[in-house]
Amino acid sequence: MLGLMQQQQLTTGSLIDHAARAHGLTEIVSRRPDGQLERSNWAEVSMRSRKVAAMLTALGAQPGDRIATLAWNRLPHLELYYGVTAAGMVLHTVNPRLFAEQIRYIVEHGGARIICVDPDLLPILEPVIADLPRIEAIVVLCAADEMPESSIPHLIAYHDRVAAADPIGAWPALDENTASSLCYTSGTTGNPKGVLYSHRSTLLHAYAACAADSMALSARDTVLLAPPLFHVNAWGLPFTSAMVGAKLVMPGSAMDGASIHQLLRDEGVTFSLGVPTLWFTVLDYIARNVSEDDRAKLKLDRVFMGGAATPRALIELFRDLLGVKANQAWGMTETSPVSTVCQPLASQMHLEGDAMTDVLATQGRAVFGVELRIENAAGEALPHDGAESGLLKVRGPWVLSAYYGNPAGADVDADGWLDTWDVAKIDADGFLHLTDRAKDVIKSGGEWISSIDLENAATAHPAVAEAAVVGVPHPRWQERPLLLLRLHPGESVEKPAMLDHLAGHVAKWWLPDDVLVVDDLPHTATGKLLKTVLRARYREHLGGVG
Ligand code: ADP
Repeated sequence: MLGLMQQQQLTTGSLIDHAARAHGLTEIVSRRPDGQLERSNWAEVSMRSRKVAAMLTALGAQPGDRIATLAWNRLPHLELYYGVTAAGMVLHTVNPRLFAEQIRYIVEHGGARIICVDPDLLPILEPVIADLPRIEAIVVLCAADEMPESSIPHLIAYHDRVAAADPIGAWPALDENTASSLCYTSGTTGNPKGVLYSHRSTLLHAYAACAADSMALSARDTVLLAPPLFHVNAWGLPFTSAMVGAKLVMPGSAMDGASIHQLLRDEGVTFSLGVPTLWFTVLDYIARNVSEDDRAKLKLDRVFMGGAATPRALIELFRDLLGVKANQAWGMTETSPVSTVCQPLASQMHLEGDAMTDVLATQGRAVFGVELRIENAAGEALPHDGAESGLLKVRGPWVLSAYYGNPAGADVDADGWLDTWDVAKIDADGFLHLTDRAKDVIKSGGEWISSIDLENAATAHPAVAEAAVVGVPHPRWQERPLLLLRLHPGESVEKPAMLDHLAGHVAKWWLPDDVLVVDDLPHTATGKLLKTVLRARYREHLGGVG
C-alpha cells in the first residue's frame, strides 16, 4: 500500500521561494571587489535569480546546460546559485586558485557554453579562453561602466543584462533527481573529477546540515560564508541559510584577518565554517590586534572546521581567546560534503578542559542519511571499537554514485559504498577518528604512523604556527616521519626540545627522524597541506633512495 502524501519535488526553486516568503527581509551582505559592502535580502535574491534565469535563457541556455562560474563569494554568485539551478540548468563552479591548465581542463570537461566571471578574475580566463572552443558567451559580474580592460572581446555586463531582463514567473517543474550543480575535486593526484549533485541530494543534505546535532543553523544566526562557493557548494551554506532564514555575510575575495574580523564585528556574525588554516590566520590577527574588551563584544558562537584535520591547539585557541565552540566536521566533495559532525553526547556534556577537547578533536558522528564502514585490506568490515583502523567507506543519498561522465553506480561497489581513501577508527559511540589519508599514512617497519596525530602534537607547542608530517623513504624502516614546522614570528625551537615535547604525546617509535623549521608550507587550492610536494622535496632526506 502506498502512502497518500503529496509528491512535491525537492528543488532549489522551492527553497528560494520559501526564503523569499518566510524571511524575505533577512539581510544578505556582500563585499564588492572595491572593498565596499552591498546589502540585499532573500526576497531580492529570489527576484534577481528569476531575472538571471531569463538573462541566461536569452543568451541561448537550455535546461541541462552547464553554466560555469569563476567567482568569489559575492551576491552575483549567490544569485547564479539559484537562477541557474532553479531554472533546470547546472551550475558549474570552478576554483580560480587552480593552475591555468586545471581550470581549462575543468571548464572544458564540464562542457559549459556560458561562463560567468568576476571582473578581477578575468586575467585568469584570458590565457585559457582560446583553448575553450565551446564557450560562446562570457558574462562579467559587474556593470558596463565597471568593465575592466581585457583582451577578450564581446564581454557581457551582468548587472545591465539582469536589470533589463523580465523575471521568469514560476520556476519550471523539475524532477528532484535533475542535476543542479557540478563541482570538481581538487585533483591533487591525477585529473580533477566532476561530482554532479542533484536537487534532491542538495536539499536532503541541507536538511541534515541544519539539524541540532549537526550544525544547528537557525533564523537567529548570522552566517559568515567563509568556505568558497567554488568548493563543494560552500558546504551547502547558501542552501541551509535559505532554508532556515539565516542572515548571510559574504566576504568577497578579502580573506585576510583584518577584513574577516571587520565582518565578524560589524555584522554580528554568530556562525561560520572553514578550513583550519583560514581560522589560524583570523585568530592570529585577533590575538595581536583586538583588545580583550572588543573580543568579548564579538557575537561569534560556533565555528565548524573541516577539509583537513583540526589541530587541538586551534580548538583550544577558539575557546580561550573568544569563548567560541569550535567543532569539527568531516566530508568530501563526493559527499556534498557534510557526513559526520562532532557534537558531544549527553554523557559527555559534563566534560571540561582536555577531556572535552578529546571529544571535539574527533571528526564526530555520522548524521542521519550517511553510513560509515571501515575495512581492512582484504575488504572485511572492522569493528567500531576505537582501536582498529582501516579504510573508510561511506554511502548515503548525498554521496556520489559515479563521477561526471561515468554511468550511474560506476564508482561505488555493488552495495553502494564509496572509497574515501581516508584511514580511520570509529569508536563504540560512533565517533570517527580520522588518522590519515591513505596516501599520507606513514608505513614504518610494517606499522602505521598517523601523520595527523603527530601534526596535532606538534601544533600543541606554543612556538608552532603550523606543522606537516610526511613519510620519507628510509633504508631500514621503509618510511620514517619527517616533521616540518612553520613557527610564529620571533619564535624558535630546536629539534631536541621538539622531540621532548612530542614524547609526551605519542609513542616513542612515532617520533620523527628529523625536525626542520621552514619559512612556509605549501597548500592546495582548497587550503590543505600539499604533501605530494613535500614528499618529493624531501625524498632523499633520510637516505632512503640513492
Ligand atoms: P579533495 O578534492 O582534496 O579530495 P575535498 O574537499 O573533497 O577535496 O577533501 C576531502 C578530504 O579532506 C577528505 O577525504 C579528508 O581526507 C579531508 N578532510 C575533510 N574533513 C576533514 C577533517 N575534519 N579531518 C581530517 N581530514 C578531513
